[in-house]
Amino acid sequence: MNAWALIPLAASLIYLVLILLVIQDTQRKANRFFAYFLGVAAFWSFSSFMLVFNPSASPQHLQLWNELVVTAIAWVSIAYYHFVRVYNDKAGGVWTYLGYAFTLFILIMALSGNVVTNVSLVNGYLFHDIRPWDLFIGAFIAPFVVAGLIMLISRYRHSTDPFDRNRSIYLIIGSGALILLSYVTPFTPALAGLTTDHIGNIINAALVTYAISRFHLFDIKLVARRGLTLLGLTAAIAVTYGGLSFILIKLGVPSTTVVITAGLIVTAAALSGRSLAHFISVSVDRLFYQDTYRYRQDLLDFSRKMSHILNLDDLSHALLPALTKALGVTHSALLFQDNAAADFLVQYTYPDNHELKGSLRLPVDNPIIEWMDREGKPLTPAQVESLPEFKGLWQMEKEQLTTANLAMLQPIKSREKLIGLIAVGPKRRGGVYTTEDLDLIDRISSQAGVIIENAQLYIQATIRANTDELTGLYNHRHFHERIEQEIGRGSRFGITFSLIILDLDLFKVYNDIYGHLAGDQLLRKVGKLIQSSVRTIDLAFRYGGEEFAVLLPETRMEDALRVAERLRKAIESKSSFREMPVTASLGIANWPTDGVMKEEIIHRADTALYRAKQTGRNRTCVASDGLKLVSNPKEAPETESQPKPLSIIYALAATVDAKDHYTYGHSRKVSEYAVSLAEALKLPEDTVHTIRAAGLLHDIGKIGVPDSILTKPGALEQKEWEPIRTHPELGVEILKHVVDLSKCLPAIMHHHENWDGTGYPQRLKGEAIPLEARILSVADAYDAITSPRPYRTQLALKDALGELRRCAGTQFDPDLVPVFCELMEQGAKSGPVALDRRTEPQIPQTED
Ligand code: GH3
Ligand code: MG
Ligand code: MG
Repeated sequence: MNAWALIPLAASLIYLVLILLVIQDTQRKANRFFAYFLGVAAFWSFSSFMLVFNPSASPQHLQLWNELVVTAIAWVSIAYYHFVRVYNDKAGGVWTYLGYAFTLFILIMALSGNVVTNVSLVNGYLFHDIRPWDLFIGAFIAPFVVAGLIMLISRYRHSTDPFDRNRSIYLIIGSGALILLSYVTPFTPALAGLTTDHIGNIINAALVTYAISRFHLFDIKLVARRGLTLLGLTAAIAVTYGGLSFILIKLGVPSTTVVITAGLIVTAAALSGRSLAHFISVSVDRLFYQDTYRYRQDLLDFSRKMSHILNLDDLSHALLPALTKALGVTHSALLFQDNAAADFLVQYTYPDNHELKGSLRLPVDNPIIEWMDREGKPLTPAQVESLPEFKGLWQMEKEQLTTANLAMLQPIKSREKLIGLIAVGPKRRGGVYTTEDLDLIDRISSQAGVIIENAQLYIQATIRANTDELTGLYNHRHFHERIEQEIGRGSRFGITFSLIILDLDLFKVYNDIYGHLAGDQLLRKVGKLIQSSVRTIDLAFRYGGEEFAVLLPETRMEDALRVAERLRKAIESKSSFREMPVTASLGIANWPTDGVMKEEIIHRADTALYRAKQTGRNRTCVASDGLKLVSNPKEAPETESQPKPLSIIYALAATVDAKDHYTYGHSRKVSEYAVSLAEALKLPEDTVHTIRAAGLLHDIGKIGVPDSILTKPGALEQKEWEPIRTHPELGVEILKHVVDLSKCLPAIMHHHENWDGTGYPQRLKGEAIPLEARILSVADAYDAITSPRPYRTQLALKDALGELRRCAGTQFDPDLVPVFCELMEQGAKSGPVALDRRTEPQIPQTED
């Protein structure tokens, strides 16, 4: 058999395999037409094989197959042209049919013996006379092949889809191989008469098959690189082997030894071939990527190098320049979610202050973000224009994208969640993205996902470490950090700052009355109030339990004072709860006027705060002037001898009364009766004050008595009396922390003692019971029996006084009862008891 016949035989077998591959997807019209082209090509190769395989074939045999080969050459070219048209979504067109008509004409002319004459096969070379038909056929089919090529090139140039461009490149190279080998062979004297033309056709067919049967193609550059690497490696081994053998033979070594030695050396070289292959592959890569090579290498190593990075600034500074240079694009950017609005916003760009920064903002519910989150694929502006999902985008949003001049947006996901976007601009030299570029971006984004998530977690952890859980303000730890920073900044740039320390007034009482949960709630509310009353550059902290601090950068004392007063008023007017007024005292210090060291400044503000407490609370004091203070303008500064912020006492009393509806107003009435009695006894003024306050507060301990007992209709059982009996002590427990009220405590503690020693809690007897308590006891009993109670009806004045007299000496101080009865009887004649309203405060209204 003629050895040259192996080429067309192999070609026809390869075509068959390719046909099988291609017809697996006949959905696409291009595939069906390509299968048809492969069929024609197989026919061409097969007829070539039939023509040359038998060196001693009969002339008739040679004649017939040569005629078929000639026809097949024309047919295969027209079929290829036809396929390219379909691939470009074009109908066959008149030229295609003209081509087929021409092919038919050639077939008829050939079979009638007009084209091929004098065929013979000598040593594998084919000799025949086909002049001038070969020129004629060549001239006719050349425009078809060239037109096909032009169509492919123009598609390549106009397509923006990198995958499509890639595929077109394969088709162009395939066509090139086809033209080169198929049409050059017959006109090259050395090859004329041989079957090498089939090689070009096989290359073309293989490339096209690969191009249209695989959607995600490898970058042709990649294929070429790998090919070159392999070639380089093979060449290196061949040269080594050849060189060695040559030298050894020259040295006179016997040829078997030469073969064995060279073989061993080459095997050793091949075993160390990994590094050789690496070297070759790096050299080839450098050749292909030139200046971008280094950046690509950097990026491929990205995750290893970046794994320690815990902040987005560092990440962006490492990533964006390398990415921009590796891709050769004009700019790139990273979009992350904005803390407040959760929109995706350009937060980093390269070059650094590209106009894109802060200008491109995509809300979470934007179709683009939704698409990226769902698909996890890159998105190009062309897709935004064409995909139906984006029909709903506002023109403005589209313009925002257009002005951003982006070539592509790539999602960054971590654990299925979209956490950022990479945006890249167009290529600097106007090229398009290759699949390898896409691969690189994809890889970067998946590696960046983990790093970014870590960085975000780290940021969150830092925020948590600096934040007070309860109020959401910065915490004590962070206060010290920030004040140091402020001092540093102040020293460097010569700017001032002020510090306010704020402490809630009598907060312990608030906790005792309403419980710690309500106390916490109040702290939260005050925290919000403070935060909303200061500028964004001011920093608010929870300094301690119920102490807050505010750092006011670049703020002089006068302005800090204004801020402090605003805070104080906001707290007073907005956080009062139920009947309980909530106020705060504030101290201010200024850096550097009041000190330059951190400790000094804090201490000065603290001292100012202490002075505010000392001089009556609910006011602001400044450190720089020991005397100057901004007081609550309505109140004159109170002195230590004039205690009791009465508003608080009234409020406390009201909370008890509010708890027990049947005794509503009881505390106030008891206080008034007791004050009347005290005044009738001509007691000193501050004792009268104490009795007024004690009267108001005598039942405060009932806060600890269950409602079911307090409001029970009917008499109480023995065990139900127990909690009731504890209320004087509980009242003292609550109030004992309030220094101002210390004088009231004996009266409150003993207002249920009986003259004869049968009362509670300490069974004191006679004069051992403090006078204020004895007075309260009478007033308390009188109001109780003249008021309606669940378990009995109220008594008239006369019966009530009778009852008091009956118990004088047993329950009540016998000296007090007559004075009290006389007072009441006089009062009944002259109208109701004149209530002392001189000191009645305005109780602030509740906000909640
Ligand atoms: P002054 O007017 O003198 O400041 O009186 P005050 O009762 O507010 O006294 P001080 O400033 O010493 O207050 C400390 C109290 O604050 C003790 C505790 O009852 C309360 N407190 C501290 N931290 C918390 C907290 O986290 N939650 C609650 N509910 N209360 C707290
Ligand atoms: Mg306090
Ligand atoms: Mg405190």
